[in-house]
Amino acid sequence: MGTRTFSLILLPTLQCNADCDYCFEDKTSDRLTLEGLEILIDKVLDHLVAKSIGALTIHWQGGEVMTLSPSWLAAAHRLIDAAAATRGVVVGHGLQTNLIGYSPGWNTLIREMFGNRVSTSLDYPNLYRHRHGKDTSDYDQLLARNIRQARDAGIDVQAIAVPNLATLAIGAERFYSHVVDTLGIRSFQVNTPFPGGSDHPAKGELPMDSRGLAKFFIDLAEVWMERGDRDGVRVGPFDELLSYFLDGPSVLPCIWTEDCANHLLCIDPRGNLAQCDCWVASYPDHWLGNLFHAASLDDLLTENPVRERFHQRPMALVARDCIDCDSLALCHGGCPVRAFSVHGTLFEKDPHCQLYRSVFAHLAAAAARLARDVR
Ligand code: SF4
Ligand code: SF4
Ligand code: SF4
Repeated sequence: MGTRTFSLILLPTLQCNADCDYCFEDKTSDRLTLEGLEILIDKVLDHLVAKSIGALTIHWQGGEVMTLSPSWLAAAHRLIDAAAATRGVVVGHGLQTNLIGYSPGWNTLIREMFGNRVSTSLDYPNLYRHRHGKDTSDYDQLLARNIRQARDAGIDVQAIAVPNLATLAIGAERFYSHVVDTLGIRSFQVNTPFPGGSDHPAKGELPMDSRGLAKFFIDLAEVWMERGDRDGVRVGPFDELLSYFLDGPSVLPCIWTEDCANHLLCIDPRGNLAQCDCWVASYPDHWLGNLFHAASLDDLLTENPVRERFHQRPMALVARDCIDCDSLALCHGGCPVRAFSVHGTLFEKDPHCQLYRSVFAHLAAAAARLARDVR
């Protein structure tokens, strides 16, 4: 079996205990059954064996995974482990959760299935995340309490944060201090916002002005480079970019892979297959098909016209928009869903192009300074 790892984003439910204004998911009551999971996972594993791919990482997302029970997840874990063992595939699991439904009853499952690590989602200041009929401060209090309880139980709580206009207004120093000093999070990543899914006034500010966003990202990179070592904190994507520019090993986010369709797929609880969670939850026209109905994952993927369009995108952008870019070998035109959500087509470069260029240039210069200092 080969050494390649494939990533699967698995949405076992489309139910959520939150009601965020900017959510791109069409939330339904669908839940995956264990019988359904067995069918899907057998087809995914058979595909990996056929392609000599020896490892699978399953990213459990929703909806919200913690609307299921720990015992259901434990049974799912046993089922997947058994199916993988018979095929010689190594499977790892990651959990992305809003933590709103967390209680100590999850601790054993988190330790045994997820290596005692979870990643949560947070905004600061929080303008859009709330529970149904409740306000953002209710959400913030609940999240801070649950992060604290999870950390007290020894769980490594990481986070993905998406900046908004209020984040830009308070600036990078206060943002970093809130995440690291107040919430105690030692590893987090900032993602670029995009207006995926149905229209909502909360998405009216998107895409955000690249200059403002670039200033925030660069300031945050500076704060991290100043404090991160001392605090023992990792901040993505800056840590991986710095390593990339220092010629070290790096795992860059999917938005900068040469063709994300080669590395990642997403399945929802109804068996719908798409490139990633936003595609499966928001854009049925871009589903690759339904894995329950297909004889095999190979059948679904072979000469799939939607997937072919994803494969064609990087070359089309190289030939047109990105040909003169110094960062082409790093960025490959950026993220298809960010382009689609703004331009309505895959064949445009990522709307955050200018932000990426600024961040790449800044981290490349920082790496050069570091290398010089070491010499
Ligand atoms: S927690 Fe996630 S899935 Fe749930 S409403 Fe908020 S953005 Fe949507
Ligand atoms: S569409 Fe964008 S977010 Fe989705 S897998 Fe591809 S690069 Fe990642
Ligand atoms: S930074 Fe911009 S021009 Fe360069 S590869 Fe990325 S999207 Fe294309």
